[in-house]
Amino acid sequence: PRVFAVTNSCFSTSAQPSWTHGNSLRVPNLIGGKFVESQSRESIDVLNPASQEVVSQVPLTTSEEFQAAVSAAKGAYPSWRNTPVTTRQRIMFKLQDLIRKNMDKLALNITTEQGKTLKDAQGDVFRGLEVVEHACGMGSLQMGEYVSNVSNGIDTYSIREPLGVCAGICPFNFPAMIPLWMFPVAITCGNTYVLKPSEKDPGASMILAELAMEAGLPDGVLNIVHGTHEVVNAICDDEDIRAISFVGSNTAGMHIYSRASAKGKRVQSNMGAKNHGVVMPDANIDATLNALIAAGFGAAGQRCMALSTVVFVGDSKPWEEKILERAKALKVNIGTDPEADLGPVISVQAKERICRLIQSGVDSGARLLLDGRNISVPGYEKGNFVGPTILADVTSDMECYKEEIFGPVLICMKADTLDEAIKIVNKNIYGNGVAIFTTSGVAARKLQNEIEAGQVGINVPIPVPLPFFSFTGSKASFAGDLNFYGKAGVQFYTQIKTVTQQWKDFSGSTGASLAMPTSQ
Ligand code: NAD
Repeated sequence: PRVFAVTNSCFSTSAQPSWTHGNSLRVPNLIGGKFVESQSRESIDVLNPASQEVVSQVPLTTSEEFQAAVSAAKGAYPSWRNTPVTTRQRIMFKLQDLIRKNMDKLALNITTEQGKTLKDAQGDVFRGLEVVEHACGMGSLQMGEYVSNVSNGIDTYSIREPLGVCAGICPFNFPAMIPLWMFPVAITCGNTYVLKPSEKDPGASMILAELAMEAGLPDGVLNIVHGTHEVVNAICDDEDIRAISFVGSNTAGMHIYSRASAKGKRVQSNMGAKNHGVVMPDANIDATLNALIAAGFGAAGQRCMALSTVVFVGDSKPWEEKILERAKALKVNIGTDPEADLGPVISVQAKERICRLIQSGVDSGARLLLDGRNISVPGYEKGNFVGPTILADVTSDMECYKEEIFGPVLICMKADTLDEAIKIVNKNIYGNGVAIFTTSGVAARKLQNEIEAGQVGINVPIPVPLPFFSFTGSKASFAGDLNFYGKAGVQFYTQIKTVTQQWKDFSGSTGASLAMPTSQ
């Protein structure tokens, strides 16, 4: 089947998506409930990062097609917002079931287009599925408030209402989880949606949209448009779109935040990161090493919560030797190999950038303990593979420290005391996550109190909160006021209407008072 059309048999699947047209490799848009092929002559190849084979092609949606998607969302809104919340929840309930049943298909698509291992791809789907599960309780999550008798015969209550048409712009690194952070919350609140998947791996969004429609989502409630900068700018400028969720790099995120805010839109923008693991000398060695290896090299380091920097408090030498040993044992291969620990990085350009940053570290005096730049995977020599790489003696003025590398590169730094380690972390511009590894509650509590990062792990390497909490990056890792999913996510996708009602016996009322009404 074309959407997974790569020659190696381990990628083949019998499930042909219903949205494919003839022999076209082109991924259609989804407009008003129909998968429609774009009339645009321009498209971008979606490449399998393990082989460079063309998996599909993403069209650069025309402005007329974009307008049609927004109109479909606008047209579907009045009846969708008046659809009972229980009906909307039931669609989510069905969707979570369908996602479970299609887990393997979704994971295979992710591995083919994004490169991560199948097991990791399943985790990608699962962490998004949890948001769908949470959206099944929207009736309670969206509940308003009520105070009876605020004045004589007067009650006040607040209602959380949907905003209207909302939009989501996605990055490449979690092709299922991040679209699922966005549209399930938005639509279950009663909004309608225009989703723009990453042009590098649109397949999972397409499968999810197909499942949402199978779950009973009415036409026009969820629409998908493909493309890059132009369609993103159109989303920012559109008069009918009320709110935008963005996840991706700082360059794009800050551009979108300012351009869309200037148009009066709500924006939540989750951006880049440099997450530190602070290792205290009293930490459990085995558990900490496992955590560092998994969180530094998992998904080839392409996670916004990857622990890319370790700060050893005290003597780092014994730790470095042990990390090196374990990193060397990791297996790099195509993501469909069940033995693979890490797959390729997303593109040739990403690999070049990662290699350049490794070299810049070496040039500025870092010690290269392990070099993964020249790795070759037999049978996949053209793949964008980078093996686990470790740079030691890194200092905070080096480019390899200041830049987000977004590859399988672990940076090791030293601090004499916990105070010094906290200072290093707080000086970094990013504030997505931090983790401390220790057996001392006192040290953990001190770090939790003093650290300037939105998500703290205590002996937990990747503390991505479950959906009853929110994803709370801070500093340069986030722009906006209301975070993704959880209570804040529901607040983001709703606005409050406050009603004050008076029901009393009006007979015998006295004349008009022109003074400002006060509670009686
Ligand atoms: P990216 O910014 O290149 O792309 C994200 C989206 O923005 C894509 O849909 C792309 O088409 C669009 N885009 C890119 N440049 C644009 C521009 N100049 N103008 C308008 N639109 C533009 O990001 P990516 O490479 O796909 O994703 C990796 C980044 O995402 C990393 O920085 C990572 O840390 C970050 N990320 C953050 C989180 C988080 O929750 N904080 C989660 C995942 C990824």
